[in-house]
Amino acid sequence: MIFARTTSAAETKALAAALAVLARPGDLLLLAGDLGAGKTAFTQGYGAALGVDDLITSPTFTLVNTYEGRLELNHLDVYRLDALSEVFDLGVPEMLEDGGVTVIEWGDSVAPALPSDYLEIRFAFDEISIALDATGASDDIRVLEFIPVGPRWSARIRTVATAIAPWIHEPDEED
Ligand code: ADP
Ligand code: MG
Repeated sequence: MIFARTTSAAETKALAAALAVLARPGDLLLLAGDLGAGKTAFTQGYGAALGVDDLITSPTFTLVNTYEGRLELNHLDVYRLDALSEVFDLGVPEMLEDGGVTVIEWGDSVAPALPSDYLEIRFAFDEISIALDATGASDDIRVLEFIPVGPRWSARIRTVATAIAPWIHEPDEED
């Protein structure tokens, strides 16, 4: 498991951009974490690094937004889907075969309905720092955990760690 830490939305976007350098056709990223944790901010940085010029917005109502870039980016948000059958209907395997990369917000909650070869990124607020610090300065800290699922990402996890090295941060490290 790899942990990273960012202290602003811009930093999360920069981390995502560093990861996008590794993007390959058929890649699947599942983004997990509460509302406001930074899943869409991450996708914006990821897309920008893929050469997407359009503004990337949350696809909560549209379910899927597709953007043109160096690789096509499919951006999904499955927050509103509760039935796995609805997720099957989105046709994620076909998206992956089309040669683009696919990023799914809240994808962890419907993982059984998705291909089982993906990189899961879990976004969390730094609750301890927030609790200890009344100034609000900690509100922008996010801890990101990278979990490879399946052979595709397990084989690349060292490359992932290298790409995001500037932000690597073990949770128990002293600041
Ligand atoms: P989600 O898609 O997970 O609901 P968003 O990316 O839409 O979250 O929103 C994240 C919010 O938190 C944005 O307003 C962003 O500016 C803010 N923010 C503050 N610090 C960070 C950080 N370190 N990483 C990402 N977003 C951050
Ligand atoms: Mg979002």
